[in-house]
Amino acid sequence: MTDRIRDFLRSRREDGPILVVDLNVVAENFMKFARALPDTRVFYAVKANPAPEILNLLAEMGSCFDCASVVEIEQAMATGASTDRISFGNTIKKEKDIGRALQYGVRLFAVDCEAEVEKIARQAALLGARDVKVFCRFLQDCEGAEWPLSRKFGCAAEMAPRVLELAHRLGLSAYGLSFHVGSQQTNMGAWDLALTTASSIFRTLAERGIELKMVNMGGGFPTKYLKDVPAAEAYGASIFEALIKHFGNRIPETIIEPGRGMVGNAGIIETEVVLISKKSDADEVRWVYLDIGKFHGLAETMDEAIRYPIRTDHDADEKVPCVLAGPTCDSVDVMYEKVPYMLPLSLEIGDKVLIEATGAYTTTYSTVGFNGFAPLASVCI
Ligand code: PLP
Repeated sequence: MTDRIRDFLRSRREDGPILVVDLNVVAENFMKFARALPDTRVFYAVKANPAPEILNLLAEMGSCFDCASVVEIEQAMATGASTDRISFGNTIKKEKDIGRALQYGVRLFAVDCEAEVEKIARQAALLGARDVKVFCRFLQDCEGAEWPLSRKFGCAAEMAPRVLELAHRLGLSAYGLSFHVGSQQTNMGAWDLALTTASSIFRTLAERGIELKMVNMGGGFPTKYLKDVPAAEAYGASIFEALIKHFGNRIPETIIEPGRGMVGNAGIIETEVVLISKKSDADEVRWVYLDIGKFHGLAETMDEAIRYPIRTDHDADEKVPCVLAGPTCDSVDVMYEKVPYMLPLSLEIGDKVLIEATGAYTTTYSTVGFNGFAPLASVCI
């Protein structure tokens, strides 16, 4: 925990769970990405944490923004960033939202099928928008990712040329390709694999007279939870090597879209133990109920995929297996049960518990008031 977060929490008077984000850590993360891949533009994935303070800081540092909706585009624009620094990176968009983005001046759009290309072309023609660039997302194996993104986004590699050819025919700029290797990707080789596919699609389209210009290498850069992860520098070196291997001296324009890797380790949630109980006298495992759960920020504990580091004031004491659950009346509001969490035997009702590395995908995953519990409070320092 940073000293700044510790000092802030010591001075805090209000009740209830809160996420505290240290902006210095976000700034360090941005610099690490910028240094690791100096020729690559960073488009921060706004969905990871759209707090205005984070967006303002990143805009000031020169970041661009990957947005999934009109609201995220407006959040990015509120920083003063010009719309040439914004991409509409969601492959699933309502046509009227495409129109709105075009009216705002956004010119970079993700697609993964012909129907989406047609929507963009129609809106561009209607609004007289010129130089509208599309990039086609292809399906990528997420092996090695702790939070894989499944088959929901992207088309088969062999379909991508057809999608981009249609874009070209309809007067759009068939600009490039994108992929996402899955979030919290600890296998650096995943980018090499994806770039093999990307370079082959580049060649196929070049043979058909279309010169692509850009590869968007997505997010996936990990944050440190319980296990150590390689540093951004190592990812940068490995990705650069793969770019040289597949594109030689004709490396295209490149983009990365870090979300988790930009803000994950910058945040800590302070929460409180509401109840500790056992289900029977014979039970070894204790149930520890916190005042935060799956519905107020900890959705990524779904399938127990993401295991957050947890700190208490009793960490030097003997630890016992605990099921960790949230406070709501929904029985799925249990964070860790399949693999119980080892917590101190001396932990008591009313104790504060710190959940580390929670800067990404927490506030935005909090419901607005399920069971009357307030959405996850958040502050940037
Ligand atoms: N880019 C796109 C298109 C995404 O869908 C996501 C996450 O869902 C990201 C970037 C950010 O990924 P990560 O948080 O793994 O860096």
